[in-house]
Amino acid sequence: MKIRIYGDKVLAETAKPVEITPELVKLLDEMVPFMRNARGVGLAAPQIGISGRFFVMDAGDKVRKVINPEIVSFGSNQIEMDEGCLSLPGVHRKVRRPKKINVRYTSETGEVIEEELKNLPARVFQHEFDHLNGTVFTDRLGPIQKKMVSGELERLRRRSEEGETLSADESYAIRSSESFPDYIKVASAEDSAKVSEKDSSEPANKE
Ligand SMILES: [Zn+2]
Repeated sequence: MKIRIYGDKVLAETAKPVEITPELVKLLDEMVPFMRNARGVGLAAPQIGISGRFFVMDAGDKVRKVINPEIVSFGSNQIEMDEGCLSLPGVHRKVRRPKKINVRYTSETGEVIEEELKNLPARVFQHEFDHLNGTVFTDRLGPIQKKMVSGELERLRRRSEEGETLSADESYAIRSSESFPDYIKVASAEDSAKVSEKDSSEPANKE
């Protein structure tokens, strides 16, 4: 299993719904330790080169294996949190998203699960869900922020054009050498959510 880097076509595709097969169940089982080795809190199928609608996540509350997810509704409160991505090592930015969402997905046992998520679990779910629609977090930045990361994105794009992929360790090594607050530092992400919550009374956006 290798991590695809920003610029890889599979990261920009809309992934297709999947059927639960023994192969899928096995793959989801393998994605969890891989995500942990990379010190990530989520890993979506397109990030390992599969254009299918499934991902794994562990935002500190529990491990979720999420198949064919839907976001049923978005809360009206928006908060800013630092985001990074295993496929965009070296890039971190604050992203504004709804604090609370209602989701529906199928588990690996075929059970339909409906949940209300808030704070970090809601954040990770939205980030991974975006991957299934060919969206990465930098697509959600405003023009100025986008410009600030454009050099870094261009470097990543060139690496992916050369066919480079990353192991879990390599992705972590790059991300851990950064001075930015890290997406994987759950506590600090929650702190930053608290800090920015007070100025977050705008209505939910078009998502
Ligand atoms: Zn990501």
